[in-house]
Amino acid sequence: MFHFIDADGHRLTAEPGTDLDGNPVTTLWVKGAFARVPVRIPTDRVEEVIAGIRQTARPADGPPRKCGRTKCVSGTEYPPCDRPAGHMAAYCRSAGSAAHFLAADVEAAP
Ligand SMILES: [Zn+2]
Repeated sequence: MFHFIDADGHRLTAEPGTDLDGNPVTTLWVKGAFARVPVRIPTDRVEEVIAGIRQTARPADGPPRKCGRTKCVSGTEYPPCDRPAGHMAAYCRSAGSAAHFLAADVEAAP
């Protein structure tokens, strides 16, 4: 049996078992505050599931995408923003620089 508890206290448990036809499976249980839900994985597909989890945990092929905006609302040009693409905050930050700038195509927060 294997347990993994996430930061919110939800527990993932993997345990050996059988499906309704008696075939060997590995059962994953996800237990939160109010419910416990089984996910039954045929034994011959466990590696596939683990590979899928591993692939999901990896960043997409190539380096992570960056925001890359360079133009400030004032028209000033900065080196490309080094924050992740689609970052939520309005202010961009150039690589290797402490300077933040409000990108020209981002609306300022009220
Ligand atoms: Zn940015």
